[in-house]
Amino acid sequence: MKSRISIIKCPSYDQSLVGESVRRSVDLLGGITAFIKPGSKVLVKPNLLMAKEPEFGIDTHPEVIRAVIKLLKEIKCNILVGDGPSVWGKQIENVDEVYRRSGVKKICDEEKVEMVKFDKRKWHGRFPLTSYLDECDHLVNIPKFKTHDLTLLTGAIKNLFGLVCGTYKTELHKNHFEIKDFSKVLVDIYGLARPCLTIVDGIVAMEGDGPATGGKLRNLNLLLAGSDCVAIDAVMSKIIGVEANDVFTIKEAGERKLGNASIEQIEIIGERLEDCLGKPFLLPSTSIARRKIPLPVVNLIRRLVKYYPFVYEKNCIRCQACIDACPKSVISMQTSSMHFDYKKCIACFCCQEACPASAIKVKKSLVARLIGL
Ligand code: SF4
Ligand code: SF4
Repeated sequence: MKSRISIIKCPSYDQSLVGESVRRSVDLLGGITAFIKPGSKVLVKPNLLMAKEPEFGIDTHPEVIRAVIKLLKEIKCNILVGDGPSVWGKQIENVDEVYRRSGVKKICDEEKVEMVKFDKRKWHGRFPLTSYLDECDHLVNIPKFKTHDLTLLTGAIKNLFGLVCGTYKTELHKNHFEIKDFSKVLVDIYGLARPCLTIVDGIVAMEGDGPATGGKLRNLNLLLAGSDCVAIDAVMSKIIGVEANDVFTIKEAGERKLGNASIEQIEIIGERLEDCLGKPFLLPSTSIARRKIPLPVVNLIRRLVKYYPFVYEKNCIRCQACIDACPKSVISMQTSSMHFDYKKCIACFCCQEACPASAIKVKKSLVARLIGL
């Protein structure tokens, strides 16, 4: 059976415009009651990665969250909003700051909706996921449309990583640092969480070295909605200009038949997909997707192609967030600069993701530079 995804154009974060557009994206799929039982308890999970204001385009925009809250209020749901931001080292005290600076606390206060912290866990297989997943009848997923330096794309599936409680996220990065292995972890979590509805904030998207301060903003002016996260991510991959199979989470989830990874198996309603395809997105520096290198050559050189973080000192504010974020504890602060022990670095780029000042850049190995990666 084909998966249905709606795409709606929305040119700004004006409150009423976003409200109408989110409503339309859901109405095209049969309306909110096609996904959520009236009067039920719903966990709304945006992407609240770090304590940055909405104009940085890193977190899901508060007006998209407000629009979803309003739809849920109309059918008298008991709504909780929360995320587990990537503030590995100091989980609890920083979450308040993320909620405040992202603007989401303000809109939740205005809408009289509770914001919760993911500090109580319940084990689902090998993952300690927020206990709110079990307490709620439904999960609504609201990712931000961004490229990602490790997973290439962060969208519907990747956003669910935030359901993992606290510092265990670091453990997963540490133990599954190979991209394919980490993608399997993300797909495992998707298999456990299965949101009933996903609405992607792609009004202002991010390209290049996303998902945080290293990326570049791009006015994409789109909202995507649906219940099949694999299909949503496959449509997103098409929009950024890469093959769905180049994104390992899509490939893996498709192979496990958790959703439709093939565009032919996706029915798009609202905007035509062809009308949403512009110039391909800038990809992360670490990505080899869409470079015209034959696969056997890629496999041959893979071990010699390496990427490492380094600090652009001019931007560094010495906040030490990278030290807290590093799952291998290989970063130290020295008198004049940040030091990395590259022998132990696993190139997960958690440090870049956590850096609030766009100070962590990507250094490439000689072979990577020689072949133009
Ligand atoms: S230094 Fe950065 S890329 Fe290397 S292991 Fe630590 S967080 Fe990952
Ligand atoms: S590199 Fe970034 S995260 Fe690390 S100390 Fe500097 S500003 Fe903070």
